[in-house]
Amino acid sequence: MATTRRDFLATSAAAAAGGVLLRPHALLARQAQEAVGVFTPIRRNVGFFTMRGGTIGHLVNDDAVAVVDSQFPDQAAVCLAGLNERSGDRPVDVLINTHHHGDHSGGNAAFRGSARKVVAHEMAAEHMRNPPGSQAPADQLFPDTTFIDEWTMDLGDETVRARHYGRAHTSGDAVITFEQANVAHMGDLLFHRRPPVVDRAAGATLRGWMQVLDRTVADHPRDTVYIFGHAAAGLPVTGTYTDMVRFHDYIEAVLGWVGAQVRAGSSRDEILARTEPLAGFEDYGPFGNPGAREIRTCAWEEITGGA
Ligand SMILES: [Zn+2]
Repeated sequence: MATTRRDFLATSAAAAAGGVLLRPHALLARQAQEAVGVFTPIRRNVGFFTMRGGTIGHLVNDDAVAVVDSQFPDQAAVCLAGLNERSGDRPVDVLINTHHHGDHSGGNAAFRGSARKVVAHEMAAEHMRNPPGSQAPADQLFPDTTFIDEWTMDLGDETVRARHYGRAHTSGDAVITFEQANVAHMGDLLFHRRPPVVDRAAGATLRGWMQVLDRTVADHPRDTVYIFGHAAAGLPVTGTYTDMVRFHDYIEAVLGWVGAQVRAGSSRDEILARTEPLAGFEDYGPFGNPGAREIRTCAWEEITGGA
């Protein structure tokens, strides 16, 4: 499983393939889209950048520049150049990592000499130094500031707050909220309409993940705009409360389905061999997709205590 995950995270083609293996035209379209960096404003000086890897969030206002996640080195360089253009070459006041995975923190080194501060949850920082089941990048800019539950910083007329709600996608996930803009970056706590990567080696738990989503929506206004780490091909990487609830319900439905199969006497291999879509969640793709196998494997492990 470790090899599968490492390969899965290694390239955007593999990451994109999670939901589109059976639709090569969609994969090609996504790769073409990812060849150029795109800045998209959301509101109140907060926006997002897409190129290859997990979505980057950013703030550029009259007093401050902040960045959430860094994709890979080449993409981080493109993002930083674009931010410099928008800010008049001001330093980046803070770079925040939502978690340790290479498609979210692999570009940190591109911010060396520019970012005044790098922030992450203490477990994300630990996993950046020693990634479970994979290698740390040869050149990395590690967090100099870590937190356990919450960290906050004033950025001119904006306040950014990082909160850890518990184990979910890893044991070091953080939700990064631009409070006045009312925009929250979910990192990989939300995969939009596609099965998530579940990094059990780094402490992931599906039951915990549902609680984290519950706590996140409880802590945010109903009209918050959420930035998602990844989306199914052709779907947006931002969304609303409704998308958060939908993803929570998907995880719950997978756990419920696998639990029912276990109680009916199905073996792990029999559960993984099923290929039909999950009823009510057909938009997440058929069970035969690698990502759908991964989440079912994790559900089976959590339900049976097996490994
Ligand atoms: Zn991740």
